[in-house]
Amino acid sequence: MDSACDVVILGGGVIGLTTAYFLAQKKIRVAILERSEFGREASWAGAGIIPPGHPDRAKHPLQRLRAISSTAFPKLSNELRDLTGIDNGYLPCGAVELASGVDAAAIEVWKDEGIAFEKMSPQDLGKLEPEFARLPEGGYYLPGAAQLRNPWHLQALAEACRKLGVRLESRTPVSELELDGSRVVRARHGDRSWSAANFLVATGAWADELLHPLGVRLGVHPVRGQMVLFRLPARPFKPVVLQGSRYLVPRSDGRVLAGSTDEHVGFDRSTTA
Ligand SMILES: Cc1cc2nc3c(=O)[nH]c(=O)nc-3n(C[C@H](O)[C@H](O)[C@H](O)COP(=O)(O)OP(=O)(O)OC[C@H]3O[C@@H](n4cnc5c(N)ncnc54)[C@H](O)[C@@H]3O)c2cc1C
Repeated sequence: MDSACDVVILGGGVIGLTTAYFLAQKKIRVAILERSEFGREASWAGAGIIPPGHPDRAKHPLQRLRAISSTAFPKLSNELRDLTGIDNGYLPCGAVELASGVDAAAIEVWKDEGIAFEKMSPQDLGKLEPEFARLPEGGYYLPGAAQLRNPWHLQALAEACRKLGVRLESRTPVSELELDGSRVVRARHGDRSWSAANFLVATGAWADELLHPLGVRLGVHPVRGQMVLFRLPARPFKPVVLQGSRYLVPRSDGRVLAGSTDEHVGFDRSTTA
């Protein structure tokens, strides 16, 4: 059986779902084919830290993407709540980057983009949060940073897509992409197929696995990140605290997420930390 629509998105993580949401708002007919359940891979696991940014001043495409996301979140979060009744937990909370985790290149990016930041000693940080006065080093305060509850956001996005008429096909691993010349024209799963004028590969760490038979190699690879979730009686401090790739994310309900390891162990999901 072959189904046709305007755009077929392969992979239903945050990238696939967000793209589908914005396309469907423009009345474009979209189907998302997801191998397992929607939003349950990297997107579910992410800590939900949203760094600040100014898209118009970002120099690199990746920085521009980060900045566009950052500025889109307040409106997107309101829209999703209005449409689905699901609060994604978006919270402007600021962030403190400890000095030992910040290099000159990061400061350059903040300056280039006009991102607000302030260099602070432990005493200055103690005025933000009394506990921070005990930190062994100072850092940089970024008032524009925010955070999000990823599972809530994914549920809101999937529900919003459903309401806008996106065809959500879970448990549908795409095993083959059919070409006409150099263009993908059909995706296959078993005896089902989907044809469209445009395909978007949003299969995250599995992108190369899917594209390999077409001779395309993006060089995307999986990175395992293990975290610990603490439950405290109340939120101990408000800003996210970062030191390089390590972070503490205080949730408003008293949970504190501490992460993350950064391990190049392929698709091994075992917990070892
Ligand atoms: C521990 C950790 C913490 C993180 N913290 C942050 C953070 O604080 N802030 C931040 O911005 N980012 C963070 N990230 C990164 C962020 O989570 C990812 O960049 C983002 O989730 C990637 O989304 P995605 O949709 O590309 O991938 P995924 O969420 O992995 O989605 C890809 C989807 O494609 C599906 N798929 C794969 N193969 C096929 C196939 N053949 N057919 C159909 N479907 C297929 C998968 O099942 C999956 O659902 C973190 C990541 C990790 C691991």
